[in-house]
Amino acid sequence: MRWKGNSMPIYAYSCDLCGQSFDVRASFAEKEQGLQPVCPKCASPKTRQVISGVMVVRGGDRNGVAAPSSFCSSGSGQGCCG
Ligand SMILES: [Zn+2]
Repeated sequence: MRWKGNSMPIYAYSCDLCGQSFDVRASFAEKEQGLQPVCPKCASPKTRQVISGVMVVRGGDRNGVAAPSSFCSSGSGQGCCG
């Protein structure tokens, strides 16, 4: 997987204490190490990641979804690897 530039994924977090929801931008490496951000409102470390539903654009007339990398390596002629 390739990210353009230095863009990093953004994770949605929610505070257990006050319920404040906030976004945290972190690299995969930081996330792997056990990211535990503090609440920006009450500074509580008791926060948890909110897994919101995967963003799906309803429509059905577009077929340009990103294929998993394993799909490309199979060489099935989808043309996603050139
Ligand atoms: Zn809080």
